[in-house]
Amino acid sequence: MNYLPIFIDIKQKSCLVVGGGDIAYRKISLLLKAHAQVVCIGKSVCKNVQALANEGKITLIEKAFESSDIKAQSLIVSATDDAPLNAHVSELAKSANIPVNVVDSPDLCSFVMPSIVDRSPIVIAISSAGKAPVLARLIRAKLESTIPHAYGKLAELAGNFRDQVKAKFSKIEDRRYFWEKTFSGIIAEKVFSGKVDEAKADLQAQLDGSADSEVGEVYLVGGGPGDPDLLTFKALRLMQQADVILYDRLVSDGVMELVRRDAELIYVGKERDNHAVPQGDINQLLVDLAKQGRRVCRLKGGDPFIFGRGGEEIETLAENGIPFQVVPGITAASGCSTYSGIPLTHRDYSQSCRFVTGHLKDGSMNLPWDELAVEQQTIVFYMALVGARYLSEQLISHGMRGDMPVALVEKGTTPDHQVYVTTLAELPNLVENTTIHAPTLIIIGEVVKLREKLNWFDVDND
Ligand code: SAH
Repeated sequence: MNYLPIFIDIKQKSCLVVGGGDIAYRKISLLLKAHAQVVCIGKSVCKNVQALANEGKITLIEKAFESSDIKAQSLIVSATDDAPLNAHVSELAKSANIPVNVVDSPDLCSFVMPSIVDRSPIVIAISSAGKAPVLARLIRAKLESTIPHAYGKLAELAGNFRDQVKAKFSKIEDRRYFWEKTFSGIIAEKVFSGKVDEAKADLQAQLDGSADSEVGEVYLVGGGPGDPDLLTFKALRLMQQADVILYDRLVSDGVMELVRRDAELIYVGKERDNHAVPQGDINQLLVDLAKQGRRVCRLKGGDPFIFGRGGEEIETLAENGIPFQVVPGITAASGCSTYSGIPLTHRDYSQSCRFVTGHLKDGSMNLPWDELAVEQQTIVFYMALVGARYLSEQLISHGMRGDMPVALVEKGTTPDHQVYVTTLAELPNLVENTTIHAPTLIIIGEVVKLREKLNWFDVDND
């Protein structure tokens, strides 16, 4: 290690910033966040620094730097574009044993300013010891995207209960176990979804011993159409903390690779008309597992609320008083069309878009054909491969042109993504004479032509 990472308390301490430009402003802002009393000395100052001075947030002295200015300072930052002056400030500070940072000059610094992920009171500092600040920033961006914003609130909540927890559990291992469970369980989830008061009450109930016997939680998670890069941050987080994962055929291998390694995996099937586990049993299984105190992730393809029967699953959970969260996912229509160069709407060709199921509850395809067979609209058929001939005939007999462009997207957004472009009249022949695998989505409308216009090449996800 080139530097010792430490966090310094500079609350109400006088800190000097030499220079008043944009870079100085950024350093000043950071110092103010840590509640320092900032003195800024500079000959010409930028608007932002001037504004801070006008608001009384800093002391601004518009003059040239003098040696005596370092007196009584707890920390010094030199952020001028005058190299000799920066070196002079550094030398003076070092000889007075005052920590000094000179912007972009690691050699002149006695401390460096890290890249920061701020989830106060949790703060993560990343340093490359001045060797690759851009890399440190990239790492920061990665952390920013994986650490929920409400971690700060969670830490705050824990801070408020620290003494009580200490009093209740005298052994450090017991305390650690308690906090580990709290931070990865339902209380943390409540904080993340903004229910801080409820989380507080639950935590208090646990400490008072008045909490209900432990009930787990169910996460109904949309796993998107296939490409794991299309998962949301929230989906990924919950997939990685669940104890049990219930998944079906629509969830891609790439997505399954991202679930928690030691989670129990339960396959609940679902091919057309061939449910490995009937829907009613899935609903009940979710309830039973949660009642055992487990965190259950019901992972579904696409979005759980779009032709996903997610509504039925949470109804059973609600009836049984099981806490649950629903995480939206990118639905097949959105993922498949985007990855195929087909905008679902377009100012010139389509002002609305309808998502329609080609597989009704009773096995029929009894749809409002008059409403579907209109111009300037895109129709996206889910689960319609088997009924392709019927839907083509119905749309044509209700007035849609036989030469209306149609795209079939097979295994959209996965490494096997394949697009077939045809016309409404030719659709049945294509489906009957080609081996097309489920899942496949059928997109009907003028927008399909844009794929050619855009000279689209499908992304190779391999
Ligand atoms: N909840 C899912 C849809 C479930 S219905 C969602 O929001 O996407 C199942 C149908 O979705 C399939 O029959 C198929 O028509 C479509 N589908 C799902 N994933 C797909 C994919 N990767 N490529 C093509 N179609 C897909």
